[in-house]
Amino acid sequence: MSGLCMGVALRRAGLTQPGDFCLVEQSPGLGGTWWDNRYPGAHVDVPAPLYAFSFAPNPHWRRRFAAAPEIQAYMQRLAQDHGLLPHIRLGRRITAARFDADTGLWQINTCASGGGEEELLQARFLVCSTGPLSQPRWPDIPGLDDFAGRRLHSARWPGDPAQTEVAGLRVGVIGTGSTASQLVPQLVRQTAVSGPRPAGSLALFQRTANWVLPRPDRRYNTLDHALARSPLLQRAVRRFWYGVLEWGRRGFDEGTLARRGMLRAAAHHLQRQVRDPALRERLRPPYPLGCKRIIYSSDYYPALTQPHVELVTEAITRVTPGGVLTADGRERPLDVLVCATGFDTVHLLSSLELRGPGGALLSEAWRSGPEAYRGVSVAGFPNLFLLLGPNTGTGHTSTLLYIEAQVQHSLACMQAVQQGGHRWVAVKAEVMRAHNQALQARLQGSVWTQCRSWYHLPDEHGSAGGKVVALWPGYTGEYVQGLGEALSPSYDFG
Ligand code: NAP
Repeated sequence: MSGLCMGVALRRAGLTQPGDFCLVEQSPGLGGTWWDNRYPGAHVDVPAPLYAFSFAPNPHWRRRFAAAPEIQAYMQRLAQDHGLLPHIRLGRRITAARFDADTGLWQINTCASGGGEEELLQARFLVCSTGPLSQPRWPDIPGLDDFAGRRLHSARWPGDPAQTEVAGLRVGVIGTGSTASQLVPQLVRQTAVSGPRPAGSLALFQRTANWVLPRPDRRYNTLDHALARSPLLQRAVRRFWYGVLEWGRRGFDEGTLARRGMLRAAAHHLQRQVRDPALRERLRPPYPLGCKRIIYSSDYYPALTQPHVELVTEAITRVTPGGVLTADGRERPLDVLVCATGFDTVHLLSSLELRGPGGALLSEAWRSGPEAYRGVSVAGFPNLFLLLGPNTGTGHTSTLLYIEAQVQHSLACMQAVQQGGHRWVAVKAEVMRAHNQALQARLQGSVWTQCRSWYHLPDEHGSAGGKVVALWPGYTGEYVQGLGEALSPSYDFG
């Protein structure tokens, strides 16, 4: 989504010829994380009016919490309506990129996604819009590769229905995060369908119980669609949700009214949806609300109360060829093992070899964790812009609000280079350092440091305590305003 947003901004800035810029996409279709995460039940967990760019409202949303296919359709339309298709190279990967200080150009190596067919691109600017949720993370459980049944990862869900059919089968799911909360109710429904076959079963392996709030979803009706065509009302609805979600940001701070409300809502939701007190106890989160991404779901708990579903809270010892063995010595035989175990967010951009002037590697500069100026620019790496880079994730609102601000900032830098007759722009090292020191000081002791999550680096014990590298701790307005400030004091040009 961030790549498309950048493309729209470039075209609006006058770069309209196919050779002016190029969008490289490794998948065979558009959608980014929404292309990869096509598991059943995938949908966005912020209200859809906020999950469209401000310059491209979508009056077609069918539900308040849009499903993945709808979001993909939105992106396809966006690309078509804004003339991006001639700029897009599908099925190609960037493998390496090197900044040439003499010419002020990036030399970018690409290849066909399946391998082979290498091609060198040359560009003044390189924008990395790969996002933090692109590399699937398989669980580090012994024996995983020996599993003889079907093994699936939620973030690489196969398009072929024959590979994902689970009716009547014994299914195991590892993980209980946002993804599992959407996928599990669907799998529970599908496994229960027996037809001529005996009913299947589902074992959900939970390492940590999570906070779950109700999802106030609803289908949009004809009146909603008619009203959504009025730009004025459209903007009002968007502003309304913006305000509601910004208020929700207060829920991450101790002692606030918003937090008390969220805690009460979560307790009531659990009490109402899970009648069995023993099961309820096992679903109580052992960490403060907000430390991991809050789950918004109204069908997750009910799915766990179905007779053919088992919530397994004993630790997994190993995966065997026939199933999963837990610490109590019990092996659950399985036909299908689904890993809803998230993404590798720590090794950001590790899939490509990025070198600045003199050959310095970005992965080397980031050996203590990814770091950038406002998530966008990295000192020592001129003409490079990151979209959804370090510390720009949000736990409370739509990430598209952040993308738009980052795109405008990157574009302003590029225009400053062109207008000033320069060859390059780079953030000052001391500016980036000061920004990150202030950011980390603010994160110290915050709710996000109090449990293990993909928001931060693991500490030496692999649990909480590591540096928070994924999350922006503040409000959206603060972030957007910070990015809109004058460039000159923060950047060097050459
Ligand atoms: P996640 O939040 O990282 O959750 C991974 C799950 O796998 C956790 O429950 C984790 O347990 C478990 N796990 C990992 N390794 C394990 C192991 N070795 N043994 C047992 N359990 C293991 O990943 P996710 O659910 O895919 O979500 C990632 C992010 O994607 C979300 O936070 C959200 O930002 C985004 N997302 C968004 C939407 C949306 O609606 N927009 C939907 C899905 C995802 P622990 O908690 O104990 O580590």
